Amino acid sequence: MIRKTRLHLVQNEGLLFEESSPGKKAYQLPGLDVPAVDPAAVLDGQAREEIEGFPEVSEVEAIRHFTRLSTYNFAIDLGMYPLGSCTMKYNPRVNEAVARTEGLAWAHPYAPVEHVQGCLEVIHRLEANLAEITGMDAVTLQPAAGAHGEWTGIMLVRALLESRGNPRKKILVPDSAHGTNPATAAMCGYSVANIPSNAKGMVDVAALAAAVDEDTAAMMVTNPNTLGVFEEQIHEVARLLHAKGALLYMDGANMNALVGLSRPGDFGVDVMHLNLHKTFSTPHGGGGPGAGPVAVKKHLEPFLPTPRVIRGKEGFEVVENLPQSIGKVRAFHGNFGVLVRALAYIMAHGGAGLRRATADAILNANYIRKHLAGHYELHTEAPSMHECVFSDDKQSPQGVRTGDIAKRLIDYGFHPYTVSFPLIVHGALMIEPTETESKQELDLFIDAMKSIAREVEEDPQLVKSAPHRTRTPRVDEVLAARKPILRWRP
Ligand SMILES: *Cc1c(COP(=O)(O)O)cnc(C)c1O
Repeated sequence: MIRKTRLHLVQNEGLLFEESSPGKKAYQLPGLDVPAVDPAAVLDGQAREEIEGFPEVSEVEAIRHFTRLSTYNFAIDLGMYPLGSCTMKYNPRVNEAVARTEGLAWAHPYAPVEHVQGCLEVIHRLEANLAEITGMDAVTLQPAAGAHGEWTGIMLVRALLESRGNPRKKILVPDSAHGTNPATAAMCGYSVANIPSNAKGMVDVAALAAAVDEDTAAMMVTNPNTLGVFEEQIHEVARLLHAKGALLYMDGANMNALVGLSRPGDFGVDVMHLNLHKTFSTPHGGGGPGAGPVAVKKHLEPFLPTPRVIRGKEGFEVVENLPQSIGKVRAFHGNFGVLVRALAYIMAHGGAGLRRATADAILNANYIRKHLAGHYELHTEAPSMHECVFSDDKQSPQGVRTGDIAKRLIDYGFHPYTVSFPLIVHGALMIEPTETESKQELDLFIDAMKSIAREVEEDPQLVKSAPHRTRTPRVDEVLAARKPILRWRP
């Protein structure tokens, strides 16, 4: 039974271009009280007479158009995203309110330092808080996203190794890694060597010991890894790398499982990035601005990007000239609005609150794991942190794959989970509920997933042809990828 959704009235919507009629306007301006100027005369013939095909509609038509469109999408404000923090966890509204504070939202990056002491304090405090949370010594807030943070972090590794006389040649990456890790290594001029996972889904330490040598610059590890499993041998991984003069990079995209519980700096990590837009309260489902701060141990600090904010005798200062710095990686101080949200989130929770949020995220993932374990094939017996990974092995004999189950889930009123990732699990269903979901919502999700498992047994075609209750039925994904139509033509 589908308990969460019901078909309801939302009108069909054409394109705004199709609703246009010439001469309609959504505004009325009073008559000029100064002499009119001919734009063509002032702009030296550059003025455009008409924007061709520009839609002309009334105010209410514009409002209705966009309001109707806004109802076509799923949203975190409508229900749970089992894609979790990596795509869209719920971000408390209070952090949005703080980011809109006038002095923060309107500060100009060229304003004199003495006029923006508050903004510099936000930067300074956030760096200190993130250093505390990660157990590292120094932080740069400049990188604009996780992948950009990875690139910055590996450039820091290269700079340190170069200063020791040899940048080395390769970076080790586990086979469960996010695609950005090998891409980062390649962009920083390193070759990539894959390290296999063992039966528990963790880095195979024996394989690592065999692979690490004097040519190894670093290993990039996500912890907990993309299976949601904590790398139990992470100390040993760090020891093996350090013994050969290599560094341990941690991809911190999964910090939603660690904040307040465990600090990467304490288990041997030299350098890592955080995704503030995943863990620290910036909405990013649509790909909006993010921030990928990089936290480092003391030996990498001299190489951090400039400018850096320091606390001087007279207040906060901005330092541009640091001889060993890799230079700027982004304009000014990074995406400042995202930084404000992160600091607001951290301060609103406090240490105990952050730890509780992490514990709730882990509890919720394990609640789902426990209840779905008999109905979907669990990928690993290793304990789950903030996400659990199943495969479609129980359903594929009926011809139903993970993508079909995800499409059917839409009919039940949920956004699909992460489909077919991580790549090392054939037919993966990755589920991350995050900390904010209530038991009621989790139970509805579990019921929906069990119900779909039953449908696969009784009527697999129903699942294979889903979704049935959406405005657009199943799309031809191959055609959409191969021959996308990206432009409207009259
Ligand atoms: C999201 C993610 C990244 C990339 O982060 P962006 O902010 O999207 O660039 C890297 N690694 C892992 C494990 C991730 O989940």
